[in-house]
Amino acid sequence: MPKLTNNPLSDPSNWSPETQLVHGGSRRSQFNETSEAIFLNSGYSYPTSQHAEDIFTHKIAGHNYSRFANPTLDMFQDRMALLEGAEAARAFASGMSAVTNAVMSQVRAGDHIVAARALFGGCRYVVEDLMPRFGVASTLVDGRDPANFEQAMRPNTKVVFVESPTNPTIELVDIKAVADIAHAHGARLIVDNVFATALFQHPLKLGADLVTYSTTKHIDGQGRTLGGIVLGSKELIEGDVHTLLRQTGPSLSPFNAWLLLKSLETMPLRVEKMTSNAARIADYLEGHPKVVRVAYPFLKSHPQHELAKRQMANGSTLMAIDVKGGREAAFKFSDALSVILISNNLGDAKSLITHPGTTTHQRFTEDVRLESGITPGLLRLSVGLENVDDLIKDLEFGLEQI
Ligand SMILES: *Cc1c(COP(=O)(O)O)cnc(C)c1O
Repeated sequence: MPKLTNNPLSDPSNWSPETQLVHGGSRRSQFNETSEAIFLNSGYSYPTSQHAEDIFTHKIAGHNYSRFANPTLDMFQDRMALLEGAEAARAFASGMSAVTNAVMSQVRAGDHIVAARALFGGCRYVVEDLMPRFGVASTLVDGRDPANFEQAMRPNTKVVFVESPTNPTIELVDIKAVADIAHAHGARLIVDNVFATALFQHPLKLGADLVTYSTTKHIDGQGRTLGGIVLGSKELIEGDVHTLLRQTGPSLSPFNAWLLLKSLETMPLRVEKMTSNAARIADYLEGHPKVVRVAYPFLKSHPQHELAKRQMANGSTLMAIDVKGGREAAFKFSDALSVILISNNLGDAKSLITHPGTTTHQRFTEDVRLESGITPGLLRLSVGLENVDDLIKDLEFGLEQI
């Protein structure tokens, strides 16, 4: 009997996120494999020269070169687009190549970018140092107040770029308010959604035009691969974003796309568990005598807690911890940990702690760091999948050493 098509669940957009992440985007080869296949090929052959011409001129759909078209990447992109509620997506070799493409694809010499200054180090380099070298000026603002974006807008502003929550200080940007400001000035909003994840925050629904991820973080979630993805409307993704990817080549390897596809199947389980561990740890650290301040979006003490509740479906797997005694105390604390590893990666099954002032943000002056809230005692903790009581015992031992 042929499959019935009047089942409402034959339409993947009616699936819940957990179902989308297991089945979304799957395409089976003639062998009807259950798990997705890896197409580890660079090129494709054509039955006739006419067929090749028809593919190159878009008369028929088909793949012609893995720099910009590969069935394993198609599956990964479609699965992510389904989760994000985006019309289209393109995968990249790293989070930074995704961000660089998203920004560069929307500007040309003479344009202007406004960005929140609390950014991942590489993202800040792209808007503050790289783009001005090609005639695209940028203004960095304190992203916590939308009025600062309004003030910085110029007639030639084409892109507004933000992260929320920010790295490493866990500040928030009101995505809807900033999207409205960007659009009123004819600019596009790009949101780097790594810290919130696609499960807990939906920038496109809040008005963003493009969303970027470093898939290296929660999407891989097990510290194995580098990757990135940009999502948005068909017009932007299949136009500017695809053209720049196709012609400059920061393409994701099909092997890594396959790994990421398999990782998406378990992402809700992992991220929900990591987030509930993080919430427990934030509660424990808050009010600890050796701790000045814990920044975690779902703690009532977070200065933007009300915005967090409005814009995010859950807290985060990340928090910022300011310990008493500055850099020396921060080093003593992290050096005494046994389960939690010292590492600048994040979103991993393994809990990771880093001292941003001397690692990810060491290239900035002390003044710039302080302006961004990176105090000498600040540590960023990425909470993993270990037993939460073990993690709390590890942190307690570390804090006792200060
Ligand atoms: C890690 C990260 C990036 C860069 O991603 P890579 O995969 O390391 O290139 C960009 N933005 C944020 C918020 C990140 O955490």
